[in-house]
Amino acid sequence: MASKIIGVLGLQGDFREHIEKLHALDAQTKDIRRVSDLENIDALIIPGGESTAVAIVEKSDTAHGIFEKIRELSSDGLPIWGTCMGSILLAKNIEGSTQGRLGVMDITVRRNAFGPQRFSSEMPISIPAIGEEPFPGVFIRAPLITNVGENVEVLGTLEQGIVMAREKNLLATVFHPEVVDDARVHKYFLSMIG
Ligand code: GLN
Repeated sequence: MASKIIGVLGLQGDFREHIEKLHALDAQTKDIRRVSDLENIDALIIPGGESTAVAIVEKSDTAHGIFEKIRELSSDGLPIWGTCMGSILLAKNIEGSTQGRLGVMDITVRRNAFGPQRFSSEMPISIPAIGEEPFPGVFIRAPLITNVGENVEVLGTLEQGIVMAREKNLLATVFHPEVVDDARVHKYFLSMIG
């Protein structure tokens, strides 16, 4: 079977780390910077970064229309995974904000919910869907998922709240699996490709 092509949104943020992780798993990747790049991909990752910056870049001449096309692909069932900033862009609701977003996943997020972290912190997360061993969760100015719709499955929680959730073809993690030496969340996402 031909290996799957995973698009990684490369407008801003830590897309390179995702690409390296995917290559280590023998998946092919494609940089997504303009609407036409979204053709012929089997899944899409939206990396960590700064959600307000991406919403601005998306309005530039080169990137314009990317959000609209991703919304279309999302309703067609394309597997889409947002990490940290990506989870904010996927969310239908962002507490106290009207910033630009994809708004495709029935979750509410609270940005910078761990306070103004100057450094990242690491906390083990229990994620039964990927195995018994806790996953090393890296949080960098991370949001929390503060509410989920009825079709959303909560996959990981901490004392502070929900940190990983799935709604059909959409996956959100508020932490950064691309920066740790554990590929289980990337493998889980690849398993969502039909
Ligand atoms: N705080 C960032 C935002 O609100 C997200 C941080 C991250 O992706 N590491 O967009």
